[in-house]
Amino acid sequence: MTEIGVRRVALITGGGRGIGAAAAVALAAGGWDVGVNYRVRVDDARRVVKACEELGRRAIAVNADVAEADQIERLFDTVTAELGPIGAVINNAGVVSPAGRVAEYDAARLERVFRINSISAFLVAGAAVRRMSTAYGGSGGVLINVSSRAAVLGSANEYVDYAASKAAVDALTTGLANEVAKEGVRVLGVRPGLIETEIHESGRLDRLGATPPLGRPGKPEEVAALIAFLVSDGASYMTGSTVDVAGGR
Ligand code: NAP
Repeated sequence: MTEIGVRRVALITGGGRGIGAAAAVALAAGGWDVGVNYRVRVDDARRVVKACEELGRRAIAVNADVAEADQIERLFDTVTAELGPIGAVINNAGVVSPAGRVAEYDAARLERVFRINSISAFLVAGAAVRRMSTAYGGSGGVLINVSSRAAVLGSANEYVDYAASKAAVDALTTGLANEVAKEGVRVLGVRPGLIETEIHESGRLDRLGATPPLGRPGKPEEVAALIAFLVSDGASYMTGSTVDVAGGR
């Protein structure tokens, strides 16, 4: 169920696999048409589109590198032109770097991580507001920023840069939610813990999988279920919150 007046078209960055793919399917199951963004893995994105279509929804795969501002604009324009006005944006695309200590990070590593996880998240959020906010002629909507428990825990000896780039996302959620609260746009964050996707270095899930209090890693579908709730009318009085989905970690 969605909010009255909010269009049922969702855009998901990095929607071809992992958490984004599960979110696409969960939203399709909830009645949303879905724009599935991918950067390189077109076959994965097409599989997600097919899964959404099998649920009776319209879906398209759209290639765009969210590290590039002009490609973000083209992504939003393509989804709007092909599916209709966007009512939900899942700001999900993200990357990590190889495990390492802060003292070993070089500028190129930091620029990549902050470019994709922080700057792109801001640019996607801005594009979402310009399409959905009533101040820009939109009909309202919901923006979900995918952060990480790392933003709170810090990821020492692995990727403190990633943790910091996601802490920026948490601040984005808090501040932007206040900016657009009276413009029909709710802004929320999710902080996944250890989730079974390809983002992890080989062996990391095996090594750390049992460490969350619930004793296992999470599944992408368990994050997607939270995202589907947050975009729904059931969460109509929520904005500015970032919700942990991390097995107690
Ligand atoms: P994943 O399986 O590695 O998938 C990453 C997705 O992001 C892919 O669809 C990829 O597209 C896309 N992507 C990466 N860079 C992109 C770019 N520049 N432009 C457009 N798309 C791009 O990762 P995941 O685990 O599902 O992660 C999704 C989000 O959850 C990320 O923000 C991540 O930081 C966050 N998160 C994950 C975990 C976890 O344990 N898995 C925990 C906390 C937070 P292609 O398929 O085309 O490469």
